[in-house]
Amino acid sequence: MTVNLLDHDAEGLARFFAELGEKPFRARQVLRAIHRRGAADFASMSDCAKSLRGRLGEVAEIRAPGVIRDEITPDGTRKWLLDVGAGNAVESVFIPDGDRGGGARRYRGTLCVSTQAGCALDCAFCSTGKQGFNRNLSTAEIIGQLWLANRALGGTGEGPRALTNVVLMGMGEPLANFDNVVTALRVMLDDDAYMLSRRRVTVSSSGIVPAIDRLAQACPVALAVSLHAPEDRLRDALVPINRKYPLATLLAACRRYLERSPRDFITFEYVMLDGVNDADAHARALVALTRGLPCKFNLIAFNPFPGSAFRSSPAQRVRGFQEILMNAGIVATLRRTRGREIDAACGQLAGRVRNRRGVVGISEVTA
Ligand code: SF4
Repeated sequence: MTVNLLDHDAEGLARFFAELGEKPFRARQVLRAIHRRGAADFASMSDCAKSLRGRLGEVAEIRAPGVIRDEITPDGTRKWLLDVGAGNAVESVFIPDGDRGGGARRYRGTLCVSTQAGCALDCAFCSTGKQGFNRNLSTAEIIGQLWLANRALGGTGEGPRALTNVVLMGMGEPLANFDNVVTALRVMLDDDAYMLSRRRVTVSSSGIVPAIDRLAQACPVALAVSLHAPEDRLRDALVPINRKYPLATLLAACRRYLERSPRDFITFEYVMLDGVNDADAHARALVALTRGLPCKFNLIAFNPFPGSAFRSSPAQRVRGFQEILMNAGIVATLRRTRGREIDAACGQLAGRVRNRRGVVGISEVTA
């Protein structure tokens, strides 16, 4: 069986090359060829000895998920629907902002990445949650989304980079797929791969507290938390994982997370649901809940989907809510409607999932 090299970070590749009897620097060379130059085969790795290329061709491969659909919207947002086998598909979305030739200050290219086929956490407002859960994506399927996007966007080589930011906010709960996600994060941060600083990589979680603590130790990238309610009764209904890790426990984990990286802040995502969590009293309760915690809020318009009973809060209500947070000194942004599918909490991208928990067939959601 061949080994997919996209499944490995630098350490894993070094182990693989050691098993082949090769020197560790060869692993770095190959890591660089795959992720910096976007190599899709070994024949193109001309800086490696011919004998090594031949050997790799026999025992290894570079295999990203297949592209089912590739769409570009008029505002430059680009979406890929990716085949992850057995009838499952996940989506990656790229959102460019500014002029790529204009330097790092003028340009931001964000890729929103999926980490699971479906999601088991069943948040009430989430289209992915309603599809059920099939399986965790492998590291190759996660990092393969960067690899594919980088190649498609011409981001390989020495010119300006296409991808400057990554958010793990696509389909799935990243921290429920901890090991594969952390290996992929290490590749994202590696100077021989995507060279992203840890503040430009954001993991978005619904609040699996032990995994937040583990992430702080393993790879403390930026953390976003899907909050959506300021008190337990409401959050129990909207984000069921809250019954296991209630707000006090979650907020304590956020404070511990920042102890590892004191100059950082937590981003709280808050989907604005008309008449559910959008009253002035909710905003004031959020101010009290997060007092003393360096944080900012992303207020998100709800993306309606078939069968959902929720409605998005009216614009005026959202502004009133935002004002209360801002007046309390909390930065609160409204996500723009551009690239609407990623203007959501974790996991609201389209895709299709063969639900392993039930016998329903493939469901398709158009978020
Ligand atoms: S919001 Fe995130 S954690 Fe909740 S069901 Fe959707 S994908 Fe899963």
